[in-house]
Amino acid sequence: MTSDFEAALVAGDIAALRVIPKADLHNHFTSGGNRDYVREKTGVDVAPLDYVLKSMDEMHEWMDQHIGRAFHGPQGRMIGLETTLAQARLDGVTRLDCGEDVWAMTLWDRDVPRLTETMRAIHARIAPDIEWIPQMGLSRHCPIQYLMEWSAPFLELDFYQSVDLYADEFAQPIEVFKPVYRAAKAKGLRLRAHAGEWGTADDVWQAVEELELDEVQHGIAAASSPQVMRFLADNRIRLNVCPTSNIMLGRVESMATHPIRKLFDAGVIVTVNTDDALMFGIGVTDEYLALYRAGVFTAAELEQIRLNGLTDQPLRP
Ligand SMILES: [Zn+2]
Repeated sequence: MTSDFEAALVAGDIAALRVIPKADLHNHFTSGGNRDYVREKTGVDVAPLDYVLKSMDEMHEWMDQHIGRAFHGPQGRMIGLETTLAQARLDGVTRLDCGEDVWAMTLWDRDVPRLTETMRAIHARIAPDIEWIPQMGLSRHCPIQYLMEWSAPFLELDFYQSVDLYADEFAQPIEVFKPVYRAAKAKGLRLRAHAGEWGTADDVWQAVEELELDEVQHGIAAASSPQVMRFLADNRIRLNVCPTSNIMLGRVESMATHPIRKLFDAGVIVTVNTDDALMFGIGVTDEYLALYRAGVFTAAELEQIRLNGLTDQPLRP
């Protein structure tokens, strides 16, 4: 039987697609907002990126120039969270994983309970119907002793449910982060990290092995290695993929040639997400429709991918 989601994809009915429950499990909340909402709240109009970037440095430069001034300081970053929750609600996202970087505790006089309570209140006010998975974020360039020190009060709260590692994939070797991932695992957090966006298939495999990851953010480089894809499929490691982001950062040439197809065919569990909705001017709905229109997946396959994100025990393709 054809689901409502499949029918809406075939019809190209974006309004119908928007109201069907979807997950966004790869979302950096300071760049995940809705353009109109951001303009209303901050007076800053963020026109989406309209050319392909060549490096993470260029990306961070673009972010500083266009988005940084909208969400300045601790309270500004909280407006970022608000605009991201608003975007998610408009886009029919019912399950959203995002959260603050542990470094931000230094902006809050190290008062992590107050920071956490502020985020919880924003979620309750803007989108209480969205299942928010509070994430503890780590930047790959930060020394491990700082990450350990900053993350400890987050972990103590027994509130955070996932951990992610992002920013420059080559800043430090992956094994450096073992201690903080062990601490997060001991607290039962779902473990994920960015890997294989700029790096190789081996980098994806190594990140999963060293950090005992449950999921990988991007991980698209795995598509170049049948062995790594088999490893991911056998161990049911989910890849949270962001197709438009991969194109705009020059990692993938086009939607039609996106390696998500190859990963899916190899039995790897994949989801479709936004990464930086405000930067790319997209929502997760647009991502599904773009993959369908580019002929990457059938409507039925996209329905399965949608369901992959709505649970942490997805079915095998
Ligand atoms: Zn990302």
